[in-house]
Amino acid sequence: MNSLPLKIDLHVHTCYSWDSATTLKEVVVYAKKRGLDGVAITDHDSVKGALKLAKKRNFLIIPGIEVSTKRGHVLALNVTIPIPPKLSPFETIQTIHDVGGIAVAAHPTTVYKGGLRRQITSNFDAIEVINSSSFPFFLSTCLGRRLAVRLNLPQTAGSDSHYPSDIGTAYTIIDANSEVDEVIQAIKRGATVPFGKPIPWKARFRNAVST
Ligand SMILES: [Zn+2]
Ligand SMILES: [Zn+2]
Repeated sequence: MNSLPLKIDLHVHTCYSWDSATTLKEVVVYAKKRGLDGVAITDHDSVKGALKLAKKRNFLIIPGIEVSTKRGHVLALNVTIPIPPKLSPFETIQTIHDVGGIAVAAHPTTVYKGGLRRQITSNFDAIEVINSSSFPFFLSTCLGRRLAVRLNLPQTAGSDSHYPSDIGTAYTIIDANSEVDEVIQAIKRGATVPFGKPIPWKARFRNAVST
């Protein structure tokens, strides 16, 4: 069976996150504009926007959530119910697995977002080695890659965009057919290549003054 590599931004916020203004319609418009084949919607502690958009079925949407654990953020992909916040990273991973999702360590090595750092173990299914909102970007990316290699875990990338124009600044090339389950399986077996750059400073400033 032939599968085409897909270009997917695995970390996108919508207005269902308290800190994002992107509407569901804008997600699809901008994702297509950036040449993406799909996005994972990973709002902070909410799956509402993800489920609403996934129902429309006119674009590949991986339903997810960004869980605030006791010690940093964890991306849960392929989940349709909220994962409770404030559990330990280990308990969070267990809960994600119990409901059929995969757990990705979000921006694990960034300085200002409260990265998971030493909480990362091989219990995770993948590590987000490129996050366009991470600071300092190049150092975080380099440390993230090193961590993934050391733990022998698949590598992903996502923009962590909170504004429509930032969607697709980072993306993961995934060797899979355009189905949620197939994408998830491909991530698990490491059929992924992360790409991306930082969100420009101008945009960060704009984001900071408008929130
Ligand atoms: Zn985060
Ligand atoms: Zn995020």
